[in-house]
Amino acid sequence: MSKPQRITVLGATGSIGLSTLDVIARHPDRYQVFALSGFSRLDELLALCVKHRPQCVVVPDAAGAQRMQAGLRAAGLAAEVLVGEEGLCQVAADPSVDAVMAAIVGAAGLRPTLAAVEAGKKVLLANKEALVMSGALFMEAVRRSGALLLPIDSEHNAIFQCLPRDFSPGLGRVGVRRILLTASGGPFRETPLAQLEQVTPEQACAHPNWSMGRKISVDSASMMNKGLELIEACWLFDARPHQVEVVVHRQSVIHSMVDYVDGSVLAQMGNPDMRTPIAHALSWPERIDSGVAPLDLFAVGRLDFEAPDELRFPCLRLARQAAEAGNSAPTMLNAANEVAVAAFLERRIRYPEIARMIEDVVSLEPVVALDALDAVFAADTRARELAGQWLNRHGR
Ligand code: NDP
Ligand code: MG
Repeated sequence: MSKPQRITVLGATGSIGLSTLDVIARHPDRYQVFALSGFSRLDELLALCVKHRPQCVVVPDAAGAQRMQAGLRAAGLAAEVLVGEEGLCQVAADPSVDAVMAAIVGAAGLRPTLAAVEAGKKVLLANKEALVMSGALFMEAVRRSGALLLPIDSEHNAIFQCLPRDFSPGLGRVGVRRILLTASGGPFRETPLAQLEQVTPEQACAHPNWSMGRKISVDSASMMNKGLELIEACWLFDARPHQVEVVVHRQSVIHSMVDYVDGSVLAQMGNPDMRTPIAHALSWPERIDSGVAPLDLFAVGRLDFEAPDELRFPCLRLARQAAEAGNSAPTMLNAANEVAVAAFLERRIRYPEIARMIEDVVSLEPVVALDALDAVFAADTRARELAGQWLNRHGR
């Protein structure tokens, strides 16, 4: 039998990280954990080290490293402790690593994810913000290094499964008319518009179908998540924004569809559980057990579809505009959204102000070309500055 693949899990303490470790633990003959990273939940990270026995563990700073080393010693473990972004990049690119799960949330994941790409790894991409903020450079790095990029986002994983196995960029070449990106509509799909001023972070994070980290839960409520996914789909599948149509499908059973020119529409279905796309990408092109229960269509009963309401979900319109403008527009949109969501979670702004802040920030700066990573981070920083100023004027 071949040697187990060695996996680095960036963002191991998060929702995707834990689901990944759950799948890995079901297949000790196939996978072995090489490295784990965490950020604020270091006790949980230590417990994961005890369970999965990685060779390396990455923490944010020196104080965290001291704590982790003491914890590892007490548990009789000898893992190497690395620190900060440099440590993350190191465990992502380590020559002995076969695959990297990129599951850090937000722009903080960009450099480590790119490090894995540049090292030519199999990269399981959950961290959509990394691709949204640096799309052209990211995909160029994938081409240059020959990395295998596999989508974890359930919609993109579904699309990947519905495309021909030998898909290479160019939807038209394989007879695809459109990508149909499904969206649940989140917790506020039917909330009266006037009540949206009052909704709380707890309500925004209570997603009807998926259990996820807090940032992506708010993005799902505002449908900025679908907007980021539209941009993500354009990069992953070489699509133009108008070739990606958003379909609200509240049951979250169909995870997305591909519409072919002959009238065939292929859909990928399953229970809403991220272990399915994770297991799919980990074992691709084979299939392994993910621990997800079989889909019970009789219990699901019906599948509903409706068009998204852009009045209710202005973030979707803003993301589509950014996708069409390209260049620095998605980078600015993503950064402004990260600041807005954090401010909403801290109760400094109300829910509808998320879209207002983003619209004001992106309309303040001209769209510029991003020809290097420094330019990406400069646009990201500028958007955060503008969002910070907006917050000082309008926030609590
Ligand atoms: P979580 O908030 O649950 O986890 C985020 C992870 O990133 C945690 O391990 C966290 O560490 C770590 N982290 C946070 N900030 C930093 C930082 N500044 N530097 C380094 N590490 C950091 O998020 P999710 O797991 O829900 O999402 C992760 C990514 O996957 C996101 O990009 C999201 O959009 C994407 N995704 C998630 C889905 C889901 O179902 N959850 C579905 C599709 C995509 P700690 O917890 O220790 O602070
Ligand atoms: Mg998704």
